[in-house]
Amino acid sequence: MTDTQTPAIAYRDVSKYYSGFTALDTVSLTVSDGEFVTLLGPSGSGKSTLLSLAVGSIDADSGIVEIRGRDVRRMKPHERNIGMVFQRYSLFPNKTVAENIAYPLVIRKVAKDEIASRVSASLATMNLMQQANRYPSEISGGQAQRVAVARALVFSPDLLLMDEPLGALDKSLRAGLQEEIRRLQRASGVPTLYVTHDQDEAMYLSDRIALCNHGRIVVLGAPRELYEEPGSQWEACFLGEANILPVSSWTRTADDVQVALSIGTPVTAKAKPTLDANGASVLMIRPEYVHVGESITPTMSRVSATITDIVFLGPRQRVSLEMADGTPLVADLRPWERPGVPGDTVSCGWNDHHSRLVEAGGA
Ligand code: ADP
Repeated sequence: MTDTQTPAIAYRDVSKYYSGFTALDTVSLTVSDGEFVTLLGPSGSGKSTLLSLAVGSIDADSGIVEIRGRDVRRMKPHERNIGMVFQRYSLFPNKTVAENIAYPLVIRKVAKDEIASRVSASLATMNLMQQANRYPSEISGGQAQRVAVARALVFSPDLLLMDEPLGALDKSLRAGLQEEIRRLQRASGVPTLYVTHDQDEAMYLSDRIALCNHGRIVVLGAPRELYEEPGSQWEACFLGEANILPVSSWTRTADDVQVALSIGTPVTAKAKPTLDANGASVLMIRPEYVHVGESITPTMSRVSATITDIVFLGPRQRVSLEMADGTPLVADLRPWERPGVPGDTVSCGWNDHHSRLVEAGGA
């Protein structure tokens, strides 16, 4: 029986060095039963290294990796019971789709009729019935990746690891498979650790996202929390788009911060209680929270700016502006709004609770 208190996988103060280079720097992370956690970060931030430690293909230099409470170094590969999906399909070219999916069951010596029924259920779930007897060279990239996902799940693994599984697919195929991965993972409840550098994919799939940079987990939280309450300029700009306004000074009040923008305007904003009063800070506002012209209400903070460009994008229009000191500002407006035309100097406003004072830089 599975102990629900014990995390599916736990990294405890894990570090990994390559000839003096720190690939992982005292990383701690747990994935609980049923949870979908994504490692999101730029290339080289240590995401794949974390997966390799779980599989046991490399060892940590310090710290411990536990699967279901057991140190992975003391577990034989089959005891780890991990399903894996990589960016490149890594299917057996000389086995059919059905044989590829059956493979993990065959090596686990599952009874033949049980294998047949699980493989056919898996083919049906993944919509691969038509391709069952084809070889990997005879199916599309999207189908190959569905086979890889089916093969990783067919033996009911204790943990699913996915390393950029959609990275080699084009955009429309990616969207379809994202839906399928989300549905399958929610239905099967297999705890999943997923690697991507695609922020939309991370937001779509994850219960929690670990933002990685330079071998560290910079911040860990639910997608909404990370998007709406970033602690630094880097976090704000890595997950989503952000307007960054220079700040000359600020003070804390009971619930808010009072900020003097470099341009001279005083505004009220939110900030993390831990924001360092002695460090440099900037004001962050998401483009969808910036109003232009008529939709501004009297209670909003406001600045004036000149429109430099307007691009119509269907469900929204993107208005680019420039403040008097040259600071760029972007507003995403609804398609029916009439903000003016390029060259117009207009009022831009936002509700105070949609602006956040964050640490400048932070990369
Ligand atoms: P990510 O998956 O986030 O792109 P990786 O985990 O693959 O990053 O790598 C983290 C860092 O460790 C990178 O700078 C990479 O070059 C380095 N690295 C990974 N494996 C090795 C290795 N075998 N030898 C030397 N450096 C390595």
